[in-house]
Amino acid sequence: MKKILFFLPLLLGMAACQEGKQPQGAHSDVPVKNVIYLIGDGMGLAHLNAAMIESEEPMALERAQYVGLQKTTCTTNKVTDSAASGTALATGTKTYYGAIGVGPDTARLTSILEKAAANGLATGLVATYRITDATPAAFIAHVKHRSEEEEIAAAFFETPIDVFIGGGRARFEQREDGRNLSQELKEKGYQVVYTMEDLAPIQSGKIAGLMHEGHLPRIINGRDPDYLLDASLKTLDILSQNDKGFFVMIEGSQIDGGGHANNIEEVITETYDFDKVVKATFDFADANPGTLVVVTADHETGGLTLPAQGAGVRYHFSTGGHTGVMVPIYSYGAGAENFTGIMENTEIPIRMMELLGL
Ligand code: MG
Ligand code: ZN
Repeated sequence: MKKILFFLPLLLGMAACQEGKQPQGAHSDVPVKNVIYLIGDGMGLAHLNAAMIESEEPMALERAQYVGLQKTTCTTNKVTDSAASGTALATGTKTYYGAIGVGPDTARLTSILEKAAANGLATGLVATYRITDATPAAFIAHVKHRSEEEEIAAAFFETPIDVFIGGGRARFEQREDGRNLSQELKEKGYQVVYTMEDLAPIQSGKIAGLMHEGHLPRIINGRDPDYLLDASLKTLDILSQNDKGFFVMIEGSQIDGGGHANNIEEVITETYDFDKVVKATFDFADANPGTLVVVTADHETGGLTLPAQGAGVRYHFSTGGHTGVMVPIYSYGAGAENFTGIMENTEIPIRMMELLGL
C-alpha cells in the first residue's frame, strides 16, 4: 500500500503529461492543410514567464509540442521594428526598418497570405490594434513605410481576403482621398461590422470587422475581455468552411504596448488574453487533424528580466523600446516538428509555405 501511494503522484503526473503532449491533432503524418499563425507583438520569453509565475493555472502555451528560437534582426538595424519583422514573418525576406511588404530595394514581396489566397485557401487577419498597423499590414500591403496607413487600408482590395477583424476604422472612412472604403467593401460583398454583437450572428461569407476608430483599448483600460477570443473563433468558423484549407494570422497586438510602457500588469493581462486564443487554436488543431499552429513574436519589447527579490521575483524593464534578443517559437499540431532549432525569422513563413505546398 505504501508503495502504491508513493508511486501514485508519479503515475498521475505521467498521465497528465501524456494527455498534454499527445493530442490527436498532433500526428505529423497528416499533411498540413490549415495554418494558424499567432504573433504576440513584443512577447519575449520573460513576458510569458511573468504571466506563468502570476497564473494559478498552467498557461495554454505550455502545451506547445515543440519550441524553437528565431533571430529578429532586420537589414538596417540590429533591433527591429514590427514592420520589418512583420514583413520577414509574412514574406520570408528580411527588409529595412519601417518597411511593409517590400524588400530592401522597395520592390514588392509576396506574403504567405497572398500566396494562400491565390491558391484557393481561405485567409484571415485578426488583431487588437489597428488592422492597418504594421503586423497585419505586412501580410496584405506593400508600402515603403508603415505610416502610410490609408494606402494599407486600400490594400485590402488587392487580395480576396475572407475575414479581417481589428481596429483602424478611420483609415477606411475618414480618408484624405475622400473614399469610403467601408462602403466599397460592402459593394464588394463584405459584411462590414463595427461591434461584436453584429459579428456574432454571421455564419458565412466575407467579413470586415472594423471594431474601433483607432486601436481597441488595452484590457486594463476596458477592452472586452472576450473580443480577441470571440473574433478568432468566428474567423476559424468561417475559414474552416473552405475544403481546401486556410491561412490566418492572429495578433496579440498590445503585449508590445505593455513593454513600451514598462507596465507589467499590462504585459501580463495582454499575454493572458493572447493565451486564451492559444488554447482555442490548440483545441482546434486537436479536433481538426492537418492544422498547424505556430506561436511566436516579432521581437521582444521592454528588455524584461525577472531578478530575485527575496524569495520572489521583481519585474525589471531595461528599456522603453525593443530589444534584439531571440524570441521563442512554439508549435503544435501537423508539421509542428519543423519549427525547432535556431533560425532566422524568415524561415518560419518559408517552412509554412513548403508545408502548405505554396
Ligand atoms: Mg503589431
Ligand atoms: Zn513596439
